[in-house]
Amino acid sequence: MSEKDEKIKSLVDMGFSEDGANMAITRCGVDVDLWELVDSISAPQMTEDSHSRNISDHQVTDQCFDSFGGGKKARLMEESKKKRNRYGGRAQGNQPSLDGSHDEPMPLPNPMIGFNLPGYLQPSVTRILPKQDTGPPFFYYENVAQAPKGVWATISRFLYDIQPEFVDSKHLCATARKRGYIHNLPIENRSPLLPMPPKTIFEAFPHYKKWWPSWDLRTQLNCLRTNIASAKLTERIGRALASSDSPPARSVQKYVMNECRKGNLVWIGKNKVAPLEPEEMEYLLGFPKDHTRGLGITERYKSLGNTFQVDTVAYHLSVLKVMFPNGVNVLSLFTGIGGGEVALHRLGIHMKAVVSVEIGKANKRIFRGWWDQTQTGTLIEIDDVKSLTDDTIVSFVSRFGGFDLVIGGSPCNNLAGCNRYNRDGLEGEQSALFYHYFRILNAVKSAMARI
Ligand code: SAH
Repeated sequence: MSEKDEKIKSLVDMGFSEDGANMAITRCGVDVDLWELVDSISAPQMTEDSHSRNISDHQVTDQCFDSFGGGKKARLMEESKKKRNRYGGRAQGNQPSLDGSHDEPMPLPNPMIGFNLPGYLQPSVTRILPKQDTGPPFFYYENVAQAPKGVWATISRFLYDIQPEFVDSKHLCATARKRGYIHNLPIENRSPLLPMPPKTIFEAFPHYKKWWPSWDLRTQLNCLRTNIASAKLTERIGRALASSDSPPARSVQKYVMNECRKGNLVWIGKNKVAPLEPEEMEYLLGFPKDHTRGLGITERYKSLGNTFQVDTVAYHLSVLKVMFPNGVNVLSLFTGIGGGEVALHRLGIHMKAVVSVEIGKANKRIFRGWWDQTQTGTLIEIDDVKSLTDDTIVSFVSRFGGFDLVIGGSPCNNLAGCNRYNRDGLEGEQSALFYHYFRILNAVKSAMARI
């Protein structure tokens, strides 16, 4: 793709019209930052209009967008403009780029326990959100904590400057999962799902003790990924151990441990390691047994590798229970296999209606299957976030009387540390879908403000 095509595509992926994107590039040139282009889609006319007609920014923004075929992006633009101003942006000479690459990196806390976690004593965090940012609708956005520099600053800037809550699930269960969550939920009076999940490998899977060598000092598993170690690798490890002394030489131990850590391998026999089974992952992640059963094994690993750690998310969502004793209406973006819904269900929060947007056929099948077996509310399924228009959102808002929760974690393909090939940040093809979360959330907020 030429640079121009790529920029047009990024802008279209963010919800702008192709015409608007083309005009912006004609005006500014193709070499400028994507952020400049976003700005320029409204800026020139805005200055002109506001000087000549002396009308408010709000009206102007709407008019600008009307000239690009509809006023729907206006709210999006206005929000981002406000955000930039609040965040510093150009006014302070700090030119932000859309992928945030000029921003300061967001420091990750150590230990990564978010605002609070059960069993951790720490100074209690208080936060007071401005009235316009509090729910309903409550929103909850998730992505990988270790994203390229500036990504979280950008996500935060778009989501009302709310600071992310970074949590590593290893503080709550036996497996690591470092994630950032931006949400406007209260953070007081949270309660964990009971029973609390096991926190160590042996508590979770006592039978692995039998073959676990004394020099494998792991007590917890690393982050569960979307793919697993090959049979070739586990065979190679077996051969290396078989031809070693007992205990093996340091160098062999080091090699084996390195692979075990990378692949979350467990000891299933003498000199024999293997990846976790999908049902073991389901258990570690807080899903019911066999949740993903019926899919091909590769698909099961993929879906599980991408999903929420249910206990972690449930801890954050638990505050909804007293607020909505009669249940919640949920807009679920990038539903996957339904980590958010499983969390609500396990909390005993009734879902009156869920509008679920998920493109993956296999994920949809799993989610629909779980829903039919466990829920009595209304489920509406939509394939693609890009096809969820503002008008459709307005109609859902009037049908259900608004959404109580907008929940989702957009794809991390271009952010995750292990992806060396197209780790191109928030503007990457998949990760740019974040902007649809932002667009859709704003559309819900505006529609709800009107009713
Ligand atoms: N939170 C989910 C997983 C999110 S992973 C869970 O608990 O399981 C991101 C999801 O976004 C994947 O399931 C992927 O299939 C979906 N996705 C990717 N592109 C999409 C699009 N354009 N519209 C809707 N969903 C999409």
